[in-house]
Amino acid sequence: MAQCTECHSSYSEGALFCSNCGALTKASNPISYSSSVLLAVALLGLILFWKAASVTSSSSTTVATPVMDEAALLIAKCGKPDIDSAAKPGFDPARRMLIYRREKVKAVFSGSDQKWHREDIVDAKTQKSLAPEVLRRRLPCAEF
Ligand SMILES: [Zn+2]
Repeated sequence: MAQCTECHSSYSEGALFCSNCGALTKASNPISYSSSVLLAVALLGLILFWKAASVTSSSSTTVATPVMDEAALLIAKCGKPDIDSAAKPGFDPARRMLIYRREKVKAVFSGSDQKWHREDIVDAKTQKSLAPEVLRRRLPCAEF
């Protein structure tokens, strides 16, 4: 015997509707079964799609952005500086300076080759730190 989901009275297995209240039984309702299967398939497809999409996006970001230190990033964004201390012999190898003459901006980096870390951005003449709003005006590409 099966139990009616509506009135909880018993009805014989396989009956299409409840003999007590007339509610449709599970046996009479194969649509809900197939729709739940459809839902499961759709969910599975969604998960697979999401996994595939996340794999593609993560692999494409690694291709798009190779490992760049902050000096390389500045050059990539603002173009080649007028003076790059790394290209000149005799400079402290633990520091690197990039000077943009026209913009009067000097970027100071510390670290080592391929691992430059931006320490300060100063005025090329006065050597004083540039306020963010001044830098934004002179060298907007340096903002990152
Ligand atoms: Zn019933």
